[in-house]
Amino acid sequence: MSDDPVCPLCLRPIPPGVPQSLHHLIPKLKGGKGGPTVLVHHICHKEIHATLSEAELARDYATPTALRAHPRLAKFFAWVAKRPPDFMSKVPKRKRG
Ligand SMILES: [Zn+2]
Ligand SMILES: [Zn+2]
Repeated sequence: MSDDPVCPLCLRPIPPGVPQSLHHLIPKLKGGKGGPTVLVHHICHKEIHATLSEAELARDYATPTALRAHPRLAKFFAWVAKRPPDFMSKVPKRKRG
């Protein structure tokens, strides 16, 4: 079965039942309300927001490609990609969620 959606960040499938969320490519606060969203793993989503501010997302990281090119996120996605799709780590708590 390969019709599961694929996370554009870590490029793993997102099977039913796995924690997932919609990421607004342009943050809502920055005028992205109703704008494009991508379905991503919850764990990937958290990492984006723990790493980048809304302003940074809006200005420089409004595409999955840009997000994957961020040095720290690239490392995270490479790491998480080796885990099973339903892997949920205890991501260390940071200020932004
Ligand atoms: Zn993912
Ligand atoms: Zn988001």
